[in-house]
Amino acid sequence: MPTRREALAASAALTGGALLSAAPSAAAAPRVTPRHATSVSDRSSGTTIALAHATVLGAGADHTVLVRDGRITRTGRSAEVPIPPGATVYDLTGKYIVPGGLVESHVHNDGPENVLPPLFPLNGVTAVREMWGRPVHHEWRDKVRAGELLGPRWVIAGSIIDGSPSLWAGDLDERVVEVTDAPSARRAVRETKASGADFVKVYSRLTPGAYEAIADESRRQGLRYAGHCPDTLPIARASDAGQQSIEHLHALLLATSAREPEIRRAMAKVRIDPAIGTSFERYASWFRQVHAVEWQAVQTYDVGRTRALFDRLAANGTRVVPTLTVHHSLERTDQLPENSPEFAYLPGWMTGYWPTVWSALTAGRTARDTARIHRIYEHRLHLVAELHRAGVQLLAGTDTGTGYAVPGFSLHHELELLAEAGLPTRDVLHAATAAPARMLGLPADRADLLVLDADPRTDVRHTRRIDSVLVAGRYLDRAERLRLLSDVARAAAASEPPTTGVAAPHVCVH
Ligand SMILES: [Zn+2]
Repeated sequence: MPTRREALAASAALTGGALLSAAPSAAAAPRVTPRHATSVSDRSSGTTIALAHATVLGAGADHTVLVRDGRITRTGRSAEVPIPPGATVYDLTGKYIVPGGLVESHVHNDGPENVLPPLFPLNGVTAVREMWGRPVHHEWRDKVRAGELLGPRWVIAGSIIDGSPSLWAGDLDERVVEVTDAPSARRAVRETKASGADFVKVYSRLTPGAYEAIADESRRQGLRYAGHCPDTLPIARASDAGQQSIEHLHALLLATSAREPEIRRAMAKVRIDPAIGTSFERYASWFRQVHAVEWQAVQTYDVGRTRALFDRLAANGTRVVPTLTVHHSLERTDQLPENSPEFAYLPGWMTGYWPTVWSALTAGRTARDTARIHRIYEHRLHLVAELHRAGVQLLAGTDTGTGYAVPGFSLHHELELLAEAGLPTRDVLHAATAAPARMLGLPADRADLLVLDADPRTDVRHTRRIDSVLVAGRYLDRAERLRLLSDVARAAAASEPPTTGVAAPHVCVH
């Protein structure tokens, strides 16, 4: 295990380095600010952009899209859409448009302001759901809306609400709300509402009683709640109670055992030693204990129970965000890239910690453990296929902020993993477009879209072949997008490690 100092640094790395708008290096690095057509005044200037002659997914070939004042004003067959005088026309013959662009349903979006927020739209991700909201996210959202910062649309959770001791308390207690009973749980929901958050985030160590109080108080306050299914709560109860989405594939896996009561008893024995001083070490301890229980569940898998449960999730409209990306990186460590061109878009001090963090999380695994963990990962893929078969709404999310998941880029990896799990390409795309847009209530006429060089319906890997992106009415054509990506790489290279402040660790595979 790392020393406390290393663990804190590692924790910072895991969050994507939360720090860190206060980091002194941030001011010195080049700002990724819009060069044109992005300020509020530009948006209201009345210039029309015409994206002409593209194949628009869901509409047809040779279509033209008109954008004006931050809205899509018309989409139709090119022959039937007259281009207004004075419009800036981009000929997109041979290109493919994904209306709305891509949506990331599970991010932890922290880090240098001129690095992390821009990476989403530059990779075609026009909206994200932040799963651990903090004031900086609201500041960024305001700046993006004002045209001062390039970033995605943000839907922002409140602080994590967890049981006690929380996996993330200790060094981070100001950021996690620990509740022990119904009154404290209800108070936490009211505080979430007062903070301006869009929804309540529930976590693994909540007791069933506190959880049900959160569900009820959220209803009263008109808030949705989403997150982890608590360790000791049957997932069917979370679904029946109205949890909007269930994150990761731990609770689902445990619930598909023929011996679920036995599994639940084993989960109830999982202990977080409050004497463990850092969140990172607490998480690592919990993670090791849970893998052992998951192995029991895999061995006692019951397909009949699984199908009954998944039918229930589908009937209740409970969404599932499998976050295969983070399961893959923690469980198929043999496939982790030592380096990748994507890493150049993050500060070196951040990517440099990943191997340390990963070896701490996976420390002590024997060859037998590793073989079992690979089987657990295969089982997760199988469960995704079963969820799809049952008609459960699946959403693409990656837990970016965790190591090896580079913001924006990682969503494309998630799409590939969903395809590997057996989803047809059109359903993979749905999990990153219409399905999350509906959950998040994104406006249908928002001026967001992604332009690709190749048809993503024939191969989901084509979502990486980006020509250009429209985000909140600002069109980043091919050259502009490449220029801004270089700016991010330069800003990342200039970023120095934080000297103060400890970021919240985000290996939140639970
Ligand atoms: Zn997370």
